[in-house]
Amino acid sequence: MKSLVLYLAVVLSPFLTLAQSYDLVIQGGRVIDPETGLDAVRNVGIRQGRIMKISAEALAGKRVISANGLIVAPGFIDLHQHAQDLESQRVKALDGVTTALEMEIGKPDVAAFLQSKEGHSLINYGTAASHPAARSLAFGTPLPPDGLLPKSGAATDKPASPEQIEMMKARLRHELEAGALAVGMGIQYTPGASRWEVIEMFRLAAQRKVPVYTHIRSNGKLEPGSNIESVSEVIGAVAVTGASLHVVHINSSCGAQALDCIGLIAGARARGLDVTTEAYPYEAAMTAINSARFNPGWQEKSGVTYHDLMLPETGERLTKERFEELHNSSEPRLVVLFSNTMEAVDPIFRNPLVMVASDGEKGHPRNAGTFCRILARYVRSQGTLTLMDAIRKMSLMPAQALECSTPSARLKGRLQEGADADVVIFDPQTVTDRATYQHPMQPSVGIEYLLVGGVMLVDKGKLMEGVFPGKAILGGTKRQ
Ligand SMILES: [Zn+2]
Repeated sequence: MKSLVLYLAVVLSPFLTLAQSYDLVIQGGRVIDPETGLDAVRNVGIRQGRIMKISAEALAGKRVISANGLIVAPGFIDLHQHAQDLESQRVKALDGVTTALEMEIGKPDVAAFLQSKEGHSLINYGTAASHPAARSLAFGTPLPPDGLLPKSGAATDKPASPEQIEMMKARLRHELEAGALAVGMGIQYTPGASRWEVIEMFRLAAQRKVPVYTHIRSNGKLEPGSNIESVSEVIGAVAVTGASLHVVHINSSCGAQALDCIGLIAGARARGLDVTTEAYPYEAAMTAINSARFNPGWQEKSGVTYHDLMLPETGERLTKERFEELHNSSEPRLVVLFSNTMEAVDPIFRNPLVMVASDGEKGHPRNAGTFCRILARYVRSQGTLTLMDAIRKMSLMPAQALECSTPSARLKGRLQEGADADVVIFDPQTVTDRATYQHPMQPSVGIEYLLVGGVMLVDKGKLMEGVFPGKAILGGTKRQ
């Protein structure tokens, strides 16, 4: 009797495996997981939004897609995406992104933002709690719900009173309670914030066990106020408060000194401080022209002139007169700033500490092209990154950075059994960005399939209509 059971088990086992049907099977793709180092042809079985099986054996599913010749990787996680509208989410999806978070600064009203996205989001979303918004509120000039950067004025340039600092902290606590993932600071946009105010915000973040994401105080080489000084300021704030820190867009904040600034971060990490950083692969920056970023002295600081500023809608290069007009306006128009070179940007990505994040906003090609540009430019064309390292910088590393905001990030950025089925499937031969400064919303090509929580959002290179699988990623007391 025993031998018969054994016999049946052996004879029937392939059928039993086949009978275990999955919602979806991705068949015969080159599966890459940067955490375990898996890089092999495998079949992937997905059920109820989870990766349930990764196997060399055949798997049966309600739908089976062939991934022969394609790469199967964890969906890309963009920690730095300002534009959260549907049009931008469409180009993000076609760039391989399954999660895009507004972490640099954050939305001015976290609850309102989360409510507006629920059931209406293509990809996963989330936000930091905005220090510039809390500061504007404390100065009596609150930002509108869709605002990001305050117009330069008292709320950006004046030092805050101790009472105003307490008001900011109360507001940030409220926003963290609402589900924000971090404290977001744009110190260059609030130059009136004293070193003490910055330390107080880091202290709050440390108490609440969330990281600080920051655009540093200044850029350029000139002292005082160099990029080295600015990176040192926030590393110092980490050292005295115990907060975790993520320095955004090291490429644009540190320009030609980016590798030196990354060296400071490496030094901090070697001494046990939790500091991370990111970059985007373009030579131009973009920001609001009426912000305090353009307070007097910006040209000397950044080594750029009026002509290096371009309006994205028209391609118009600015003059002194046109600049004054736009800088003094209350309308926060975006301007592209040609302040860097690709010779300075390219080596940044070879550094193992640097992850990829887009700083995406309409009007700059980084919104639509960042992730496929990494694959096309550095993996295929220049051969300066391996596929494994590129995928690590775009999935596992941002997931790991997010883990200090929410434990749910442990199920993201991984192509492993039990992980969330956020999956990108692309053709390594053809994947490329197409967005340019003239046509910044041109979607990338080569992303053949994209799954968000197991739901097919891109199918055979086409974006699906009418599906909204994106879910909130929450921190604070709402963290999962
Ligand atoms: Zn920034």
